Amino acid sequence: MYTRILRFAPSPNGYLHLGHAYSALLNHDMARELGGRLLLRIEDIDATRCHPEYEAAIYDDLSWLGISWQEPVRRQSEHFNDYERAISKLNALNLIYPSFESRSEINALVAERDRQGRWPRDPDGVPLYPGRARKLSPAERERRRRAGDPFALRLAMDAALARAGVLHWTESGAGPGGQTGLVTAAPQIWGDVVLARKEIPTSYHLAVAVDDALQGVTDVVRGQDLFWSSSLHRLLQALLGLPEPVYHHHKLILDADGRKLSKSTQATSLRELRAAGSSPADVRRMVGLGR
Ligand code: GLU
Repeated sequence: MYTRILRFAPSPNGYLHLGHAYSALLNHDMARELGGRLLLRIEDIDATRCHPEYEAAIYDDLSWLGISWQEPVRRQSEHFNDYERAISKLNALNLIYPSFESRSEINALVAERDRQGRWPRDPDGVPLYPGRARKLSPAERERRRRAGDPFALRLAMDAALARAGVLHWTESGAGPGGQTGLVTAAPQIWGDVVLARKEIPTSYHLAVAVDDALQGVTDVVRGQDLFWSSSLHRLLQALLGLPEPVYHHHKLILDADGRKLSKSTQATSLRELRAAGSSPADVRRMVGLGR
């Protein structure tokens, strides 16, 4: 028998709200039911958006909710070399290339493509990469790098798909369309996705795939908003030779208008609810986990 390992992985770029509470409590309850362990990961790769104050609040809010986790906490910003190793591996497989277009150059290219019929967007609503950097000569790439030009390292999706073949994952929760059981991955919907940048040597997708493997995570329990990301995470796992966890995507907690909660909405932050006199049991009831 192996021990099941779950994780809660918030970003310290705001205060936790009811949506986070639901995810953290569900992870905690499932770990308990499975006789497994719960880990905590701080997803702080973007130093411009993350603050120590929010990280401290995460520990405080989770403890208040009655959630404990196994130490040590993994802080992504302390593990950039793990992500760099993964990038080198993909580079050695010829699956990665640098692109140097600025945001406005990309926007102009997308506008041009949109005029010929709507150019596809990824599940986050970001236009797929429309550029041609994959065709740059090695000499030109070298010249741009030497010049210190900013760049993004992108996955060569066609080549990656050809290498990995058709992939699936086991879904024990459900996707936004009710997808459950054996789900066929569709990583192509992300196009030549950015895996790292000059200034941040990883991306959310790469760091999650690498960390879930390094932390031995067996069950990824997270919101349905990340359902489509799992396609890309499965692809990265296959390319990097990483083990495959079971996924459990859960419902999202919505506001009174049916919108996803955001970190900037004070009303549903755990701090605010606590200050207004709510108890952890009240929070459980509010997210439908009351007993
Ligand atoms: N850090 C992500 C978030 O706060 C969650 C990542 C994950 O669970 O894979 O939305």
